Parts: sequence; structure tokens; C-alpha cells
Amino acid sequence: FVEIRHAQKSYGSLEVLKDISLNVERGQIVAIIGPSGSGKSTLLRAINDLDPLTGGEVWLDGVQVNKSLPHRQYEKHINEMRQQVGMVFQHFNLFPHMTARENVTMAPMLLKGLSKAEADKLAEEQLDKVGMLDRIDYYPSRLSGGQKQRVAIARALAMKPKLMLFDEATSALDPELVDEVNMVMKKLAEEHMTMIIVTHEMDFAASVCDRVLFMDQGVVVEEGPPSVVFKNPTKDRTREFLRKHL
Ligand code: ATP
Ligand code: MG
Repeated sequence: FVEIRHAQKSYGSLEVLKDISLNVERGQIVAIIGPSGSGKSTLLRAINDLDPLTGGEVWLDGVQVNKSLPHRQYEKHINEMRQQVGMVFQHFNLFPHMTARENVTMAPMLLKGLSKAEADKLAEEQLDKVGMLDRIDYYPSRLSGGQKQRVAIARALAMKPKLMLFDEATSALDPELVDEVNMVMKKLAEEHMTMIIVTHEMDFAASVCDRVLFMDQGVVVEEGPPSVVFKNPTKDRTREFLRKHL
């Protein structure tokens, strides 16, 4: 469903992704773990071509994302692809001058042509799903970090994505706010949303993910089910990383 084939990425002479291949089946949930600078965010951002690869291919649901096309055609193609991929980052990227409702309704109205009434209904559904219906008309400045992240998730879901990408969605949150965001991700997992989750939370990864990838210095050192990667890692580098982070 998501296929990364021989991904390679360099910044000048610095090679940050070295021949990474990864397949994610529809409905699968994959965690990516690894030390700072190992290339986790770069890989995630390559999936919707925000950080274009210098080599290799990314495919989503049978369509190549990072196709080389004439500029105009590429713009149209990539906009269509990005609409199918929801992203949630570490730092809340809500539009500060818009309420929770407006944050959620904007893209469906602008990109999918939904009427205000249709978009409102969608916003209510999605904000309800993340437990934020009671704050629907709040501006981000009046929401906690956890609440902002839940609105960000609702905003991504409103586009009915085929795939959700999370890049350390909880690592900027106060510890007591982490669970409310993790609960929402768990709920999505139960609904079989396909997800790739970069996280530092090993317990969470172990409890929701089908597969864990451990990256170090631009390569996938080890991958497998959480029961293997966390409990019986085969590589020294994985063991060393887990010793520091479990
Ligand atoms: P963290 O856990 O700290 O978020 P990460 O695994 O997400 O780390 P990346 O952000 O993917 O790591 O970075 C991988 C490497 O690429 C790092 O060495 C980083 O310095 C480098 N890098 C990232 N973006 C750029 C850029 N725009 N220009 C040059 N180097 C970059
Ligand atoms: Mg990162």
C-alpha cells in the first residue's frame, strides 16, 4: 500500500537516507524509532515529497508519488497525492487566527469544494471523534498542547486520508497531556487506519504498532514485530538504543 523502494537522500555530501526500502500494508501501523539525526523525519517527509528523495521511489496505493513530471503537472499530481496523506508534526501547526472549526473546515472547503454546511458537519464529526467538540469555536491560543494536537489530528482526518503520518506528535507535550493524544491514535489504530508513527515512546509503539523499524545513521538496522524488536533485538545497536530508552 505504501512502498518505499531504495530511498536515498543526501544533503550535499551528507547522506541521511541510505537505500531504505519499506512496505506498509493497508491498515498496518508501523513505528519508526531511532536516535536523533538518524533520518526518521526525512524519511517521513519523503513520503509525500516534502523532502524530495535524491534516489529511489515512493508509491502510495499503486501511484508513484515522487514522479518526475513537468512543473505544472507535478504540482497538480503532488497536490492530489498530499490530499490523501494526513500529517501531524511535533509542533502544533494549527492556523492561529482560526478557530478549531475553521482549522478543520478550511481544506475540505478549499480543496474538495464542500459547502460551509457540509464542512461544518464534517468538523463536528471529526472534532467529536478526538473529544474536542466542546471546544469547536476556540482559538488555538486558548487550547492546551494536547488539545491542539487533537485538533490537528481532526483537521488531517477531515480530508479522509488513506494514510496518516505522525512525527513525534507527543514529544513537545507535558507528560500529563501525552495520553489524551495517544488515545486518539489508538482509536485510529482500532479503525485500521494505515499509519506510520515516528515516536520516542516505546511503550506506546509496543502497544499499537504491528511493526517497528529501528533506524540509525540513515539505515534500517532492524525491523520486526514489537515483541521481537523490543524484547529480543538481534543487533547490538538496537540493544544499545533500547537500553537508553526503555
Ligand atoms: P530527531 O529525532 O532529532 O527528530 P531525525 O531522525 O528525525 O532526528 P532528521 O531530521 O531526518 O533526523 O535528520 C537526519 C539528518 O539530516 C541529520 O543529520 C540532519 O542534520 C540532516 N538534515 C535534515 N534536514 C536537513 C537540511 N535541510 N539540510 C541539511 N541537513 C539536513
Ligand atoms: Mg525528527
